[in-house]
Amino acid sequence: MTELSGGPSLPQERRVATEIPGPKSQELWARKQATVANGVGAVLPVFAKRAGGGILEDVDGNAFIDFGSGIAVTSVGNSAEAVVRRATAQLNDFTHTCAMVTPYEPYVAVCEALAELTPGDHAKKSALFNSGAEAVENAVKAARAYTKRQAVVVFDHGYHGRTNLTMALTAKNMPYKHGFGPFAPEVYRVPVAYPYRWLTGPENCAKEAAHQAIEQITKQVGADNVAAIVIEPVLGEGGFIEPAKGFLPAIANFAKENGIVFVADEIQSGFCRTGQWFACEDEGVVPDLITTAKGIAGGLPLAAVTGRAEIMDAAHAGGLGGTYGGNPVACAAALGSIETMREQNLNARARRIGEIMKPRLEAMAEKYDIIGEVRGRGAMIAIELVQSGSKEPNPAATGALAKACHQEGLLVLTTGTYGNVLRFLPPLVIGEDLLNEGLDIIEAAFTTL
Ligand SMILES: *Cc1c(COP(=O)(O)O)cnc(C)c1O
Repeated sequence: MTELSGGPSLPQERRVATEIPGPKSQELWARKQATVANGVGAVLPVFAKRAGGGILEDVDGNAFIDFGSGIAVTSVGNSAEAVVRRATAQLNDFTHTCAMVTPYEPYVAVCEALAELTPGDHAKKSALFNSGAEAVENAVKAARAYTKRQAVVVFDHGYHGRTNLTMALTAKNMPYKHGFGPFAPEVYRVPVAYPYRWLTGPENCAKEAAHQAIEQITKQVGADNVAAIVIEPVLGEGGFIEPAKGFLPAIANFAKENGIVFVADEIQSGFCRTGQWFACEDEGVVPDLITTAKGIAGGLPLAAVTGRAEIMDAAHAGGLGGTYGGNPVACAAALGSIETMREQNLNARARRIGEIMKPRLEAMAEKYDIIGEVRGRGAMIAIELVQSGSKEPNPAATGALAKACHQEGLLVLTTGTYGNVLRFLPPLVIGEDLLNEGLDIIEAAFTTL
């Protein structure tokens, strides 16, 4: 076995050694431009060499503090010990049989872990896939097979993926949908309780938004035509929107009363990210189905649909699956990732990260009135940027701040329907010194505006 150069052994120090991007990254960028489709963009055009803990090192020897985790994926850190150990052992045993041809134990073990970790004590089953979008598609397939209904209800600011059905489920046109239609039919979008932008104020938001959503479902679609309601308990690409308290339970109750399958898309918010195994636990919501991906396997491609056994069993044999879904190496990595989350109590780590980040960001919001709101929980934290003295979105400042952070060796991501949200998704294993150093860089970036 070759020696591990990234992962936990990587020095946990920020280093800006060259201009950003450096000369080697610029050379690679030229090669990328010549051969990789332009549709595949990049937030920060430096090329990765190694990563681990809270650091991502590039080919020019720059070491970035990682506030992105590859979009909430490497929550246990890159090349985490247990992930590498288990995936390597599996690589040496066999790489693929296709779970639909000859099954293997790691697939079953992941489904057992999902049954144990997801909310609710009802009988649960799972099916495994390669990507989040595929999981969401299959949740809809299971819900349709079970209910024998067709309509799917989704929400403003929602994001569910880039395949044809999940583009239809996704709210935002640019860049996800523009020019890529026609989209899948029988998809209906209703309001979500976005407290910061609710016109009559945050205190009325949960009740009014739930009322509007339910009115629209019953009057425009007909509750008994609806197979599934799909919602992210914290809306990720929409801008880390936490629906006002009371909204999720109201929608989940409505689903229950009307025989509609309630699907929590926890692909971004799940697996310790918000300080709970799943974000919906915060309000005691027990989804019928839950979709997971991103944080599940420490960087290897794996996704799952988990939920009530009778719903998951509604599809006929051979109706769910795929060539690679639940690949054994990805399953082994997931078992390593879950082992790490348990042993290092990463839920507590996520909450601690939130306790450090939020007060510091709130102090910045006192000083800089372009910070409209600081929100999120655990290690899923964001600031929404607005024009001075109004709530008008400020995507220009957001882009400039991200760029200023990148130049100083801090990898941050932007998000939001209006492109005006800076989001922070550090690996849950990041050291507190690096976390604070990253916050110092963000604070300094405001002075450059
Ligand atoms: C990322 C994401 C998806 C899509 O996952 P992919 O693996 O990119 O297909 C779906 N839903 C949510 C909430 C996500 O954040």
